[in-house]
Amino acid sequence: MRDARHMIGGRPHADADSVRAAWDAHAARSVQLFGGFPNRPVAEGLDDRRKDVSAAAYVSDGRWVADCPVCAGGVAVWPHGMRDACCFDCGTLVSVSCPPASVVGAAVAVLRHRPTTNQHWVPGVESVDDLKAENLSRGYLFVEAV
Ligand SMILES: [Zn+2]
Repeated sequence: MRDARHMIGGRPHADADSVRAAWDAHAARSVQLFGGFPNRPVAEGLDDRRKDVSAAAYVSDGRWVADCPVCAGGVAVWPHGMRDACCFDCGTLVSVSCPPASVVGAAVAVLRHRPTTNQHWVPGVESVDDLKAENLSRGYLFVEAV
């Protein structure tokens, strides 16, 4: 499943520092090419991008994402790898919440039996048992771990 490590740059990033460096490079390019971010007024500047806002992680099309609480742009997240994420539409650095690692692992184990374009999960709305039932109803093989 793709996460923030896979959704910026041409190849996956090895760690959080590399992802953060890619965010900064993206911000610099946005300033150089466009004068800032598409959804951020130029008057706000770029120095203070971290805001006291949070977003909940979810899975869409096999990617870990969240919705930016400032501009509603899509944000790539890395559950349990990074507690923050960068919105590429407004540059805001967002705190990200996600379920416990054991729940994430159980959900990913179920979702990986689906085609990537059918891997969706909204934690707190759908349980892991809901995902299993959906797999069965759609004919996706799911083998319970023993
Ligand atoms: Zn945003």
